Amino acid sequence: MKKIAIIGAGMAGITAARTLKQAGFDVSVFEKSSRPSGRMSALSTPLGSFDQGAQYFTVRDPRFLQALRDVPGTMELVRAWSATAVRVLDARGRVLEASNPPQEPHFVAQPTMGALVEHWAQPLVQDEQIVFGAQVHSIQTDQINPKLWQLKLENKVDCVASGFDGVILSIPAPQAKRLIENSTATVYNSGLLKSFNNVKMGPCWTMMVAFAQAPQLAYLGPQWNAAKSIHHRIAWLSRESSKPSRSHVERWTIQASTTWSQEHLEDDHERIQAKLLKAFSELTGIYTQPSQVNVKLWAYAKTLQPLGISHQWDSSLNIGTCGDWHLGHRVENAFVSGLSLAMNMI
Ligand SMILES: Cc1cc2nc3c(=O)[nH]c(=O)nc-3n(C[C@H](O)[C@H](O)[C@H](O)COP(=O)(O)OP(=O)(O)OC[C@H]3O[C@@H](n4cnc5c(N)ncnc54)[C@H](O)[C@@H]3O)c2cc1C
Repeated sequence: MKKIAIIGAGMAGITAARTLKQAGFDVSVFEKSSRPSGRMSALSTPLGSFDQGAQYFTVRDPRFLQALRDVPGTMELVRAWSATAVRVLDARGRVLEASNPPQEPHFVAQPTMGALVEHWAQPLVQDEQIVFGAQVHSIQTDQINPKLWQLKLENKVDCVASGFDGVILSIPAPQAKRLIENSTATVYNSGLLKSFNNVKMGPCWTMMVAFAQAPQLAYLGPQWNAAKSIHHRIAWLSRESSKPSRSHVERWTIQASTTWSQEHLEDDHERIQAKLLKAFSELTGIYTQPSQVNVKLWAYAKTLQPLGISHQWDSSLNIGTCGDWHLGHRVENAFVSGLSLAMNMI
């Protein structure tokens, strides 16, 4: 049995971990947050939850469809979301009729998007194979057996996890690059480091607003539930409360465009909030002040240029990478990447 460390408990890491566990590997997942799901996580607030990262997922790959169907309990979590006809808006909120994208079912997990990865992570949580609150700083040669690897943990002084035959980095490319740069010379000098130069990921400022005075606004606000926009500040907005099994308090999630997010990376939350609220009003016609506003910056939200291969595995070092950025910017890309790497190792 091989002992494998997996860094990151998002869709890709959990998919790889589950697959390897089923094949008899001894896996340990290290996750810096307090729960799994990564960029599919939700924000819980007194007025209801928000999908603060991925809004929905699509299913194009038969292997993803099979996993959704075959993993017990998954179909009960997945619901179609009636945002299929996503509008495209101009800068003043007018629908550009000609730009409607092709129809494709949009699915969400209930009660939040994060529930899908959390459900798939359950067997690993039960067997205590995920360490939460563990931010990995670097990969080092194991102090006891130099043929193995150990992980140095960032937020725990002098703390290492040791004795791994192999290591999988399942984190966004810029973070994986930094981790490899911190690592021992053999890892630093591997071809993995160079591969990151071919990948680009962009940020996303995300604002989540709730209107406790809901019924009135549902009447006044737009008649659609989700839209892409060519407004220079906002790329996407959706009515969170229109998703299945959510609280009915009127709630919207607003995602800034990559370019605007990049230009405003250093701004404080108050400034971002004011600017995005103004743009939100321009697009929706809702000028009422929300009763609750949350703002979050995703530093590495979206793959702008993928690596173009499903995963990487250096068989001389037994170190590999997976994650959405290998193939694209969607939940399904993360699944396929994690699965491909694990299948390559079995
Ligand atoms: C705002 C936003 C909107 C999106 N909208 C959609 C959408 O509508 N549809 C869609 O299909 N996709 C969408 N996506 C993309 C989708 O969320 C991702 O493709 C997918 O979740 C990526 O999964 P992953 O496992 O590759 O990475 P992640 O989910 O990023 O998982 C990486 C994990 O590693 C952890 N980690 C990072 N560094 C370390 C470290 N050093 N040590 C330990 N742990 C670490 C992180 O905490 C995280 O949990 C969106 C993403 C964002 C941010």
